[in-house]
Amino acid sequence: MKNSDFNQRRLQATPRGVGVMCDFYAQQADNATLTDVEGAEYIDFAAGIAVLNTGHRHAKVVEAIEKQLAHFTHTAYQIVPYESYVGLAEKINELTPIQEETKTAFFTTGAEAVENAIKIARCHTGRPGVIAFGGAFHGRTYMTMALTGKVKPYKTGFGPFPGSVFHAAYPSDARGISVQESIRSLESLFQCDIDPQQVAAIIFEPVQGEGGFNVAPAEFVSALRAICDQHGIVLIADEVQSGFARTGKMFAMQHYVHQADLMTMAKSLAGGMPLSAVAGKAAIMDSPLPGGLGGTYAGNPLSIAAAHAVIDVINEEQLCERAVHLGGKLRAVLEEAQEVCPALAYVRGVGSMMAAEFSDPASGKPSAAAAQAVQKHALAQGLLLLTCGQHGNIIRFLYPLTIPEAQFDKALAIVKNALESVS
Ligand code: PMP
Repeated sequence: MKNSDFNQRRLQATPRGVGVMCDFYAQQADNATLTDVEGAEYIDFAAGIAVLNTGHRHAKVVEAIEKQLAHFTHTAYQIVPYESYVGLAEKINELTPIQEETKTAFFTTGAEAVENAIKIARCHTGRPGVIAFGGAFHGRTYMTMALTGKVKPYKTGFGPFPGSVFHAAYPSDARGISVQESIRSLESLFQCDIDPQQVAAIIFEPVQGEGGFNVAPAEFVSALRAICDQHGIVLIADEVQSGFARTGKMFAMQHYVHQADLMTMAKSLAGGMPLSAVAGKAAIMDSPLPGGLGGTYAGNPLSIAAAHAVIDVINEEQLCERAVHLGGKLRAVLEEAQEVCPALAYVRGVGSMMAAEFSDPASGKPSAAAAQAVQKHALAQGLLLLTCGQHGNIIRFLYPLTIPEAQFDKALAIVKNALESVS
């Protein structure tokens, strides 16, 4: 089997809108190693876009799915319920950093979780407005596209979008946006666009994912909490990308004193199986009428089984601690490389949610070319890296937190080499 045979067929059979990054096709994947159909091996620092914090096919996750497979694969939870859904909700309620009675509902994709969080917030407040942030990514469905703060390619050609959605500026050192400016831009929405009493929710990522791993400063989260409290607005933390040990805590919100009212989660929740959730304050979660929330596949039993195993693995293998350890090693390599790679303008992140941002040393302008050169160089040496950011000039590192130390060190050597190559 050859990769090139499939490429021809892909171009013929599937639309270009379903963009594909790699020109090789997966055959096998184990922990942090991905093998293509020609037998070439890659160290997987993309991890299915932040889905595999527990690695590809973790033995415990596979075992849990196989066990469930022998019982039933689908009943539609809303028709015939099963205990594992309730048990997982109990676990998530326990883990969610919200110090009030919490409840959890399951869905299938990250976008679906965000959609439902907005539904719940609107139902609870009886208000239409939603405020999101520049650079945010919340999904590809209509409401989540509207919330997403990046036009190309996510919104191009797809309008009109649902109304009552507004964007404020997310704080960023690299963009020169201070917390004060960000909050000012939010408050100016209340003067120019919408009465705060008409705002149902403010949704933000504690660490922006697709937007470039921008970490929310503590004062920013405090200010959001205060604004939401003042006006009765529901604060939603979208932890679809930052959740499940990636930042060195089970959830990124645990890095802050203040708490959200609702949280969305997906990706690494179920170790490669499709599952998402909205968790939040019981009084808010209970607003929609019975039947107002759900979906045919929402809380699929195989995915729920996988999620139980994922949470066990995170605890047993101390993946929060490992995220801090691995992220520290990566940060050291990146910061050292800044001395020989002038295009590497910013190194930032928290735990193992680390990113390297590139700009042109002469003009200071974002350099997607430098990020792509590093990505290409790494791939040629067998390391799969992802880019992100408004300008595609940022490399994000999303390795499985279960990666063997020696393989991680090998990957770091490739990163170092790739960075030196663009200097
Ligand atoms: N929210 C965030 C923060 C995300 O990173 C993503 C996916 N990159 C989504 C929502 C949408 O998730 P999905 O692709 O599963 O719909």
